[in-house]
Amino acid sequence: MKTNNTELTALVVDDQAAIRQVLAAMLRDIGIGRVLQAEDGVSAFRMLDRSPHPVDLLFCDLAMPGIDGVETLRGLATRHIEAGVVLLSGMDAKVIATVADMADQLGLRMLGTALKPFSRDQIADFVERFHQLRFVARRRPAMMVTADEFDRAMDEGRIELYYQPKISLADGSLCSVEALARMHHPAYGVIEPDAFIPLAEENPQRMTRLTLAIFEQAIHQAGAWRKAGLDLGMAINVSTQAIRRLDLPDIAEDIVTRAGFDCDKVTLEITESQVLASAEILHIVSRFRLRNFKLSIDDFGTGHSSLKRLKRLPFTELKIDRSFVSGAANDADLRSILETSIGLGQRLRMDVVAEGVEDWADWQVLEDLGCDVAQGYFVSRPIAAPGIPLFAQRWTQGRANAAH
Ligand code: C2E
Ligand code: CA
Ligand code: CA
Repeated sequence: MKTNNTELTALVVDDQAAIRQVLAAMLRDIGIGRVLQAEDGVSAFRMLDRSPHPVDLLFCDLAMPGIDGVETLRGLATRHIEAGVVLLSGMDAKVIATVADMADQLGLRMLGTALKPFSRDQIADFVERFHQLRFVARRRPAMMVTADEFDRAMDEGRIELYYQPKISLADGSLCSVEALARMHHPAYGVIEPDAFIPLAEENPQRMTRLTLAIFEQAIHQAGAWRKAGLDLGMAINVSTQAIRRLDLPDIAEDIVTRAGFDCDKVTLEITESQVLASAEILHIVSRFRLRNFKLSIDDFGTGHSSLKRLKRLPFTELKIDRSFVSGAANDADLRSILETSIGLGQRLRMDVVAEGVEDWADWQVLEDLGCDVAQGYFVSRPIAAPGIPLFAQRWTQGRANAAH
């Protein structure tokens, strides 16, 4: 057990050299033995993988070009690192708090957050907290999958889709489902996507392979349900990493046709941050749109799309992130963000979907604000394919009973 600062290794990840240097100087002054610096997430990963000394303290900036702080944290979580993590940012305290929660959920050992400019005393406090916290047993970290485990699961067909119902608020009908990936692990059972999607994202080929497998599975399922008399829209999450191959829209259209399904019943969900990340995305997604696929901006509200930018995008749906939906009934800030987003979607003639509806009060707010579609635990958790016809039957029955 290291009890002296001189035995500790710190890593500072920030794109600004000046910040790195100031912080490194403070850390040395506090007596930290080794201070490493990285200018972005990718070089931070490299250092973590290669450093002969495990990193004990990690200071990470949130806003960095390329892979940002959020993605960096996810990458860290896949590495099972034991380091205490401090988030640095010049941004709104609320944003940092949200990211800190996420990092905590990923199983990282969070020491706290620091708004720039920070003082030497603040940094010394974090080091102190690190010494205290290391005696406290950590919460079971989120299960993280290795590249080998992932590839084996792909080879053996152990990636399975769960489906979460989406309800039209206008008439209460079950209109579609979102496909959400799960992995079956021989020892750990069902593994959530946060434990393997970020890993797949690191490698475009792996991500393309995963996305194609998921697409195929989801579309076949949708075709099978249609044949059985259950006609549902199908929403599929796609990473822009995976759709750069030029022939992909044709392959996708072909899969849909062979399954006896229609492209205009398929929605591709792409996160707002990925939409904003490259201008190239416009021409890629346009080619899906030309084949009648619907396009959704996922996790809307977590990036900062301008109205001007949104107008130019060929997207058909805004999907408001659950962080603005859960609890909106009792939080004036959230409610006004929701109201603005829904209004924006309506002005742009896009469908507006809210995810993360957790209770009746949230549902009521969405109805009042004129949201089109709701999805969340209040309606149902994601369920395995065989459960969907059963859910549909019960839901329809429930509506009929309510109408009487
Ligand atoms: P997402 O696209 O934002 O999906 C919604 C997530 O919110 C899902 O988590 C869903 O189970 C969860 N959720 C739904 N309703 C509620 C609610 O009322 N309360 C709360 N607290 N959570 C709710 P899940 O299945 O763990 O997926 C996490 C993320 O992993 C997804 O976020 C998506 O970004 C990614 N993902 C999942 N499947 C795929 C996939 O097939 N391909 C890609 N590229 N990404 C995927
Ligand atoms: Ca989604
Ligand atoms: Ca989301």
